[in-house]
Amino acid sequence: MDLLKYLRSNILNLKPYSSARDEYSGEAMVFLDANENPFNQPYNRYPDPLQRALKARIAELKHLSADSIFLGNGSDEPIDLLIRAFCEPGVHHIIQIEPTYGMYQVAAGVNNVAVLKVPLSAEYGLDADAVLGAVTPDTRMIFLCSPNNPTGNALDEGEMIRVIQGFDGPVVVDEAYIDFAPGKSLLSRLPEFSNLIILQTFSKAWGMAGIRLGMAFAAPEIIAVLNKIKYPYNLNILTQSKALELLQDSASVENWVETILEERTRLAEALSGISYVEKVCPSDANFLLVRMKEARKVYEYLVGKGIIVRDRSKVMLCENSLRITVGKGSENETLMEALEEYAL
Ligand SMILES: *Cc1c(COP(=O)(O)O)cnc(C)c1O
Repeated sequence: MDLLKYLRSNILNLKPYSSARDEYSGEAMVFLDANENPFNQPYNRYPDPLQRALKARIAELKHLSADSIFLGNGSDEPIDLLIRAFCEPGVHHIIQIEPTYGMYQVAAGVNNVAVLKVPLSAEYGLDADAVLGAVTPDTRMIFLCSPNNPTGNALDEGEMIRVIQGFDGPVVVDEAYIDFAPGKSLLSRLPEFSNLIILQTFSKAWGMAGIRLGMAFAAPEIIAVLNKIKYPYNLNILTQSKALELLQDSASVENWVETILEERTRLAEALSGISYVEKVCPSDANFLLVRMKEARKVYEYLVGKGIIVRDRSKVMLCENSLRITVGKGSENETLMEALEEYAL
């Protein structure tokens, strides 16, 4: 596969750790191979390193084969693993849009990989030509995020495809908020692009930020690389069993998403009616980016009332903007009452 030529040579040549559960993964009468304690079932046993049961269920849900799925300790794990797999520290760099999710830059920084930032338009749109124009021979990966955090909008599909087609190396599209943007996922187009890696997570629509479960979808050759370099037992048995339990109940998730989308509409309308609010950005996610007069003061006022939102004022193109997560009805009403009481 062409993409494998972008791998760091040490990763390409790495021989992975072989755990007891790798060497024998079936059923047995007696397990005496992993130096586990025979007491305290079921927590005494190491988890399945490849999470086969959970992947089988996710494969059904996403209409993918299990070997196209990587599961990690949040999306943060595949973000870090991808940078480590493809970028030579001190030599290569990644390209990201700006503003966007902060973890790409942190993961790159930990690995001594530079970040080249390509600004979105004033309306937070993606300009494929600008991204592709920034590519140099040392560019090893491009990160897109759609719907984007902190702006909330989904990026234009045609522009994303132009980036994916115009760059030979890996292009990551982070779809953490995709369940709030029906019809906008690139997942169905994964088979068309061998350099596309899609990230999704259980942390947002699925309501499971606490169990730490992120997904990466890509060609089996790329998934195999991630499996080779991850910690052998990266997902504990509590996370795997809890996720399987929730996957039996996807109706709840659909209900939550529907409610959150209704609340998002209500909240956006209410915020637009506030005198010092200048703009409520259109959102395809479960949060709203809201530009207003003296955002920092409003933020501090809300903290004083015990209401915590995210001040994004220092972020490029987000001057005087607060990022507000859509909560449940009562929470959004508490927020609105406080904002209506506030006098500049
Ligand atoms: C919240 C979020 C994630 C989720 O990260 P996890 O590690 O899976 O909790 C990923 N990407 C973006 C853009 C996010 O906002």
